[in-house]
Amino acid sequence: MQKPKFFILNCSDAANCCDKKEYNEASIREKTSIIIHNLFCKKCRDYSAKNSKLTQLIKKARIKACTSEEKRDIKEKLKQEISKQGSSSS
Ligand SMILES: [Zn+2]
Repeated sequence: MQKPKFFILNCSDAANCCDKKEYNEASIREKTSIIIHNLFCKKCRDYSAKNSKLTQLIKKARIKACTSEEKRDIKEKLKQEISKQGSSSS
């Protein structure tokens, strides 16, 4: 008997799929996998929530002229800013 492995992602795969989802590049299976993974993994649930928040911000900013690579770049920077704020342990 084979386990349905394809629905069980590790955290880095989940993060990957989550990014893809934000760019509408994820398949139904990937989307489902994220949902299932997020049920069990609070870390990725938070990541997912943050990620869609960032996407909303970018959409609001209306960076339509940017290529998806540029958007990804902007998103990375935003993420870095957020993680800076989060880890104020100095
Ligand atoms: Zn996870």
